[in-house]
Amino acid sequence: MNTFVENSHDTTIYDVIIVGSGPAGAHIAHELVTHGINVALLDIGHQDLTISQKIPDQHFDYIRKTDPKQREYFLGHNTSIFSQRVNKAGAHLTPPREYMIAHMEEYFPTDNREFYALQATSQGGLGVSWGSNCFTFDEQELKKTFIDSDPLYLHYEKTAQYIGISGSSQDQNTKYICDIKSIQNPLDIDTNNQSILTYYKSKSQAFKFKLCQSVVAILTQDKVDPAQSRRANPYHDLDFWSDTQKSVYRPQFTIAELKTYPNFKYLNGHIAQTFSENDNITRLTCLHIESKNQKTYQARKLVLCCGAINTARLVATATKSFNKEMPILCNHNKWIAGINLRYLGRPSSSHRYSLSQLTLVMNSKFNHFEDKIIAHFYSYKSLMLFRLTKELPLHPFFTTFIFRLLKSCLTLINVHFPDYHSNDNYMKITEEKNHLGMHLVKFKYSHDKQKKAEIRFGLWIMIKNLFSLGIIPLKINNPQEGASIHYAGTIPQSSQYAPLRVAPKMNLWTHPSVYIADSSTWLYLPAKGLTFTIMAHARKIGQHLIEEIRSFRPN
Ligand SMILES: Cc1cc2nc3c(=O)[nH]c(=O)nc-3n(C[C@H](O)[C@H](O)[C@H](O)COP(=O)(O)OP(=O)(O)OC[C@H]3O[C@@H](n4cnc5c(N)ncnc54)[C@H](O)[C@@H]3O)c2cc1C
Repeated sequence: MNTFVENSHDTTIYDVIIVGSGPAGAHIAHELVTHGINVALLDIGHQDLTISQKIPDQHFDYIRKTDPKQREYFLGHNTSIFSQRVNKAGAHLTPPREYMIAHMEEYFPTDNREFYALQATSQGGLGVSWGSNCFTFDEQELKKTFIDSDPLYLHYEKTAQYIGISGSSQDQNTKYICDIKSIQNPLDIDTNNQSILTYYKSKSQAFKFKLCQSVVAILTQDKVDPAQSRRANPYHDLDFWSDTQKSVYRPQFTIAELKTYPNFKYLNGHIAQTFSENDNITRLTCLHIESKNQKTYQARKLVLCCGAINTARLVATATKSFNKEMPILCNHNKWIAGINLRYLGRPSSSHRYSLSQLTLVMNSKFNHFEDKIIAHFYSYKSLMLFRLTKELPLHPFFTTFIFRLLKSCLTLINVHFPDYHSNDNYMKITEEKNHLGMHLVKFKYSHDKQKKAEIRFGLWIMIKNLFSLGIIPLKINNPQEGASIHYAGTIPQSSQYAPLRVAPKMNLWTHPSVYIADSSTWLYLPAKGLTFTIMAHARKIGQHLIEEIRSFRPN
């Protein structure tokens, strides 16, 4: 039973209330606020920088040799967390980024048996730890996703200029990943991956796949203007731990910038629980976490950017659609640990950044001919080596010895597969509530025979491709079928009135003033990282809202 104090009521009527500060929320807010719209962004907004502030602004190698306190931020005190998360989403989270999912199970209760959903409670959402790989969707992918390409490409450029994206515009293959003009100079890739890329380029005609330097939201030129001060990547090889020079874009930087605008209000410490719409005014009811009071806020338009799972939770709660099947999409992924024979026994340079170095694009050539399978290449010389040692069936002493020998040529390849709607995969909001009044979500997610065969086939081709590059796979890691970090498709579009569906303008058929600006509305998820498209698409919806709001408030 809830013991919350009933409705304390804010009488302000905002032009727009946005829920959630992840990539979608931050970018639609930026678009609206910089066009003079009066915006409140409501968020859980958890932020804990105590661990990250302990990391010196120095190179990884220097810290390893000099800082006696390094264990605290590199490994954390609770190393058992790594084994608990093996094969589940969130295995990548390092101690300074752990706060991203603090209280996750309490605020967003789920039945985790088939689908391990990573649900952010942080300011910046899952963007706190995103790997910053950027992709544009091509015409065919946008069509399948049901996103209108016009004028999305303008918003891709605008987003790229704002967040700062680097990549090799000289390389023709870059356009298969991220087809934009606004691109900074490429980063220096590490020596191991450079040897792979050089070999590929020397024989590129012989290969049936495209390989090029990854396109990432990492600066290679300083971005210093009144709005933000971010620096080019310092090659400290600390990008999984530290944001000290803000070289990798994160949505919380945008929230910090927006707080300087008089027409922006950040309402953190709230969980949005339900909404209603009356006389063109939308009322959002939330739990204020600290006081445990319920609060209501009002706006002309409400925009949901809670991530595909929690946007669906909120819509189903508001429309009392309990125990209804809501589709869910997620990109299956696999990790391959391999050795690059071409670099065996050669020294690795310390001049490196830690995130994705190369991206491979290949056609899946199974039933879905136009689908692509994407792989990201990483090198590993970091402390995470201890996580790999348990993968070999040898005594840890020998395994550590072998991995030390191999570390300069050890290549980790993260392979992503597309996902499309299936009646078999869904989430349901149950009527069961926890002590905070949050409804339990249940998932049913598994791959059918065809999907399993597609993944097996795609993986087989990928392994052949790796061999052709001189990479010998040592081990394939199989995350659970529903252990992904890319989610979409829970409130899809429909051209006709339907509950739990949006109209083509991305507003709910049942609540025309309530818009969805995250990936909940997409009908397909290519194997490409979705976040750059989430940001551009959110800006596009923002443009539509600006026109709507100006039509009834001309000044
Ligand atoms: C380790 C990792 C690496 C990744 N790497 C990449 C990559 O390289 N490339 C890529 O494209 N993508 C990557 N992703 C995925 C990317 O982070 C997500 O696609 C993206 O963050 C989704 O943005 P979003 O705004 O839709 O949702 P989220 O980021 O999930 O943000 C949702 C926000 O809403 C808030 N919220 C939710 N419900 C409520 C509520 N009821 N009340 C108040 N607030 C609420 C949350 O606290 C959060 O702030 C990665 C993700 C992870 C975890």
